[in-house]
Amino acid sequence: MTLPHNRVESALLRRINERRLLEVIQQQGPSSRAALTRSSGLTAPTVSKVVDALLKRGLVEEIDPLGQTLGRPGRLVQMAAESAVILGVVIDATTCCVVATGLDGRVEESRTRRFTTPASYKHLLDSIETHCRVLLQDTNRTVHAIGVSVPGLVNERLQEIVFSPNLRLLDKRNPAIDLEQRMAAKCLLLQETSGLCLSERLYGDAKGLHDFAMLDVSTGLGMAVMSGGQLLAGHGGMAGEVGHITVDPTGLRCGCGNRGCLETLATDSALVRRMSERIGQPLSVEEAAGRLAATPEEFGADVECVSEYLAIAMAAVINIFNPTTLFVHGTLLVAAEDRFARVLERVRQRTLTASLADCTIVPTRLSKRQGAIAGIMHHLTNTWAPPFR
Ligand SMILES: [Zn+2]
Repeated sequence: MTLPHNRVESALLRRINERRLLEVIQQQGPSSRAALTRSSGLTAPTVSKVVDALLKRGLVEEIDPLGQTLGRPGRLVQMAAESAVILGVVIDATTCCVVATGLDGRVEESRTRRFTTPASYKHLLDSIETHCRVLLQDTNRTVHAIGVSVPGLVNERLQEIVFSPNLRLLDKRNPAIDLEQRMAAKCLLLQETSGLCLSERLYGDAKGLHDFAMLDVSTGLGMAVMSGGQLLAGHGGMAGEVGHITVDPTGLRCGCGNRGCLETLATDSALVRRMSERIGQPLSVEEAAGRLAATPEEFGADVECVSEYLAIAMAAVINIFNPTTLFVHGTLLVAAEDRFARVLERVRQRTLTASLADCTIVPTRLSKRQGAIAGIMHHLTNTWAPPFR
């Protein structure tokens, strides 16, 4: 049976209105229907109708406003925090984590489980499933969907991880498809830097921004760019691999097989490797942070060298993509204020003045946990209806 043309149009229009309102509620948090009418540009009767439909679908819920005792307060509409669950899975080179949140995306330590990355793919899936089930144990709420954030090169067209230089057990795999079968819930595979980019847009400092970039310099070196409100994907979703640009043709062997990739020189891992070599014992990132705080002069040359390459990476992103904001995700050179200030000095020397004048550079406040959640929320909103701008 085919629907009459005008009914198809009105169904699509309803979905577009629902999506519009979901976006407004996501951006401004709990809001009265009157406030939603003002911010969405929809009429009051439409807002009422759309809110009722979203309530029915369990995507939003109504709460009483705090501290209002006089009169009959208008109830507030918020993303379903109590009645729905989404899960975020972060697979990383040394540690993985699983987090449960409501559709409001609020990530809490009490609902996060961490574990050491297992040595085989099967054990990895087993561990993820176990931790997901423990998080869901005390709740009879519906799991809406699961976002799986992974390091490495993700081919969205083929729906697989092409290769993951820092976690080779993921090569040619798709943990989202495998987890979907085990958990019977929609799972989405997400490159970790794209997840970070979406999380800044949904929950962080990039709300309302259409052109910004994210550089992750923690384990590997990843980049994601939001251009004109869309994540830059390329043909297969693999765009953004700035980490595998050769900057030292005779340098160290990279996980990708080449020598002297930017990734081997400009990251937390690169600094930890240099520091470990200097003292003749392997350090973790946390231990390296402790050493840098205690005896910074001992590692001055290492910090200087890695800062130089990090500045080259940041300047390249600014020169090529002209973002309004460049977010940088990292620990040793980014989260430490004084070291980051010195990196910024070097960026100023290496960037085109006009491009730098357009750009604010900030350390990201959000985590890959939040990225996995943002990725799946972005997907849920996009499959609901096309954006309307
Ligand atoms: Zn490489």
